[in-house]
Amino acid sequence: MATYDLVVIGTGPGGYVCAVRAAQLGMKVAVVEKNATLGGTCLNVGCMPSKALLHASEMFEEAGHSFAKMGVSVSAPKLDLPSMMNFKQQGIDGNVKGVEFLMKKNKIDVISGKGKILGTGKVEVSGGDGKTQTVETKNIVIATGSDVARLKGVEIDEKRIVSSTGALALDKVPSKLLIVGAGVIGLELGSVWHRLGAQVTVVEFLDRILPGMDGEVAKQFQRILEKQGFAFRLGARVTGVDTSGKTLSAQIEPAAGGKPETLEADVVLVAIGRVPYTEGLGLKEAGVALDNRGRVQIDAHFATSVKGVYAIGDVVAGPMLAHKAEDEGVAVAEILAGQAGHVNYDVIPGVVYTTPEVSAVGKTEEELKQAGVVYTVGKFPFTANGRSKVNQTTEGFVKVLADAKTDRVLGVHIVGREAGEMIHEAAVLMEFGGSAEDLARTCHAHPTRSEAIKEAALAVGKRAIHM
Ligand code: FAD
Repeated sequence: MATYDLVVIGTGPGGYVCAVRAAQLGMKVAVVEKNATLGGTCLNVGCMPSKALLHASEMFEEAGHSFAKMGVSVSAPKLDLPSMMNFKQQGIDGNVKGVEFLMKKNKIDVISGKGKILGTGKVEVSGGDGKTQTVETKNIVIATGSDVARLKGVEIDEKRIVSSTGALALDKVPSKLLIVGAGVIGLELGSVWHRLGAQVTVVEFLDRILPGMDGEVAKQFQRILEKQGFAFRLGARVTGVDTSGKTLSAQIEPAAGGKPETLEADVVLVAIGRVPYTEGLGLKEAGVALDNRGRVQIDAHFATSVKGVYAIGDVVAGPMLAHKAEDEGVAVAEILAGQAGHVNYDVIPGVVYTTPEVSAVGKTEEELKQAGVVYTVGKFPFTANGRSKVNQTTEGFVKVLADAKTDRVLGVHIVGREAGEMIHEAAVLMEFGGSAEDLARTCHAHPTRSEAIKEAALAVGKRAIHM
């Protein structure tokens, strides 16, 4: 007799949410975690600490630059970095405790140690004390997440050459920060340190920032960041970093080949992406197949090539996002309970938590063009939105993409303050297969920034009111 109905390996947003949902559905569940704290990348070195520092550094920036024009006169703010890091840690601790509470509340056993799959129904856990135990279970869910992608020839020491983990814990503001990679993580952490005083240069291999997001959005966002003081070197690659001097010397060369040059920096942040983490899981021996990018291969029901073994989150294909991992956790738990668990991959919002924020759900213009879909575009700038005008936060716009024949909304893209909160009305609409007309006819409270979404939807039919 198996001890458990389900053992989940990993307690990131995918793993712990899966465990909670399975327990709600009456299963006897255990989670296995190798780290000292629960919550995975997201809570410990990802979403949560980055958002805490983004919030604190934004307040610092606002106090220094925006208060005076509103008639709030304060002396120049002084940075107390240890306290700011303490604020970040309190946020992490609070969230980690929250997950511990959820495990207790749902009677989920927490087994400390590194999990290894021995085959169907068997997980070996090696604890930090050197002891191992074998846990028997009907089903196993792999939720082991991801790790930082490394750059050949550039060794991360987490002091001067850092990954996102080191960049969340610098003990002083670098005068010059060089970021390799213009993706979400690089731009968010670049914003934190830029607001605190660093000169930031971002080197990106592609000829654009935010790969995968709508091209027009990325272009406008790049201009906004440049106005803030960011420098971009697009179409360039970092080939090495010389650490022998007092300052670092990064060699960069054009992606298309050509004359190399050197950029000086105090800290180099490598933010070129993340890779699935399956180390020590025993997948090969157990017969769990991986795809050509090292991700655990699953079918439409999250099942791997081994009976009773499932996988979710960053370790499988799809966007590496906490909410995608969570929804997959819920879906697989429901499937194991005999229900019809499902994730709609067409409606997964993405947010860049900078100032202004960038958010998106659904297809980009590039994707629609490539798929040969005929679409209409409705756009509305925040310069024409009353609330944004009174607050003097008019950067950015909303763009609604709708099917030209059916008017069904296929994608919504926003650059602007609070874009990350605003995107969800579009997500709900798209879940219900709604049209631009539906969005345009939905009464929106005035004055709100969300009225810009309604206006962009009206603009699809060329009848925006305030433009
Ligand atoms: P993880 O959170 O990576 O958790 C995996 C867990 O498994 C870890 O705790 C690990 O210790 C454990 N584990 C691994 N192997 C074993 C083993 N053999 N035995 C036992 N335990 C094991 N996403 C967002 O949606 N929004 C954001 O704002 C956001 N910001 C981010 C900022 C940064 C700096 C980073 C790095 C990431 C960010 N992400 C964000 C991405 C997000 O963190 C991940 O998508 C999410 O954590 C994936 O969840 P997961 O459950 O798949 O894996």
